[in-house]
Amino acid sequence: MIKKFIKAALIIIMSSCLGACNNKIGNSNEISTTIKDENNSKVSVVVSFNPLREFVEAVGKDKISVKVMVPEGMEPHDFEPKPRDMESLSKAQVFIYNGLGMEAWAEKTLTAVDNKSLEIVNASKNAEVIKNEEVEHGEYDPHIWLSLKEAKILAKNIKDALVKVDSANKAFYEENYNEFATKLDELYNEYKKKFETVSNKNFVTGHAAFAYLCRDFGLKQNSVEDVFAEGEPTPKKMKDLVDYSKNNNIKVIFMEELASPKVSETLAKEVGAKVEKIYTIESREDNKDYLESMKDNLEKIYNSLK
Ligand SMILES: [Zn+2]
Repeated sequence: MIKKFIKAALIIIMSSCLGACNNKIGNSNEISTTIKDENNSKVSVVVSFNPLREFVEAVGKDKISVKVMVPEGMEPHDFEPKPRDMESLSKAQVFIYNGLGMEAWAEKTLTAVDNKSLEIVNASKNAEVIKNEEVEHGEYDPHIWLSLKEAKILAKNIKDALVKVDSANKAFYEENYNEFATKLDELYNEYKKKFETVSNKNFVTGHAAFAYLCRDFGLKQNSVEDVFAEGEPTPKKMKDLVDYSKNNNIKVIFMEELASPKVSETLAKEVGAKVEKIYTIESREDNKDYLESMKDNLEKIYNSLK
């Protein structure tokens, strides 16, 4: 109810700004010209949230400048764009979003943005997607960046867009993409072998973000919250998780900073398990990049199953 009201208010603010803020935009053009001179050769990119920043930085390196819409430390499933995001989008050359329902606001926002030359990238195009069991939020599980295999496709879609808007640096982007893709393959191959050696394949985490990672390695997740990080567990759900953890010899309960960390701790205490931090990469944490966060996740999950 309150959410709906805030949404409506935001739309009013945004749409009234589109008409009335013309003056302001006119003035800031002068400022943006100076900024443009300084970053002369850089491609200006806006991404919806953190994993896409990781991929575009891996491919674009110092030839791009990136703005991330969802602020650091914020749960992206609840995000709504602000007027400042509309302004960034109106000046950007490339906008990258995840798709698969992660940015429910994308379509409406892009219709409202006045920027005809904006190159719009649906990063998960041509990726192999997983359907949601319950379709309340949408047909697909959006957490595709947590698959090392699909990350290659996301990074390739992003690379193709950079090549399109900045073809002079095609070789640079191709080389960076190939280097990144090789690292993704290496990490995948390393853990594919490791996970084949363990018979226990079950782990318990904060919210159901790891279906793609599970598919890559033949694992199974159970979680405190659902796919969209909603639903503080009921006493019944909590009891089910306790029973599940005990029956499956769960030694570690994974904790996510942005999804009920306290509940993970309570659950761990209840079943006599350890608590370990896991990264959904939905926000940048502990100053780790994508490959570092993924390696950390895989090593911790592997150790919990040994
Ligand atoms: Zn999530």
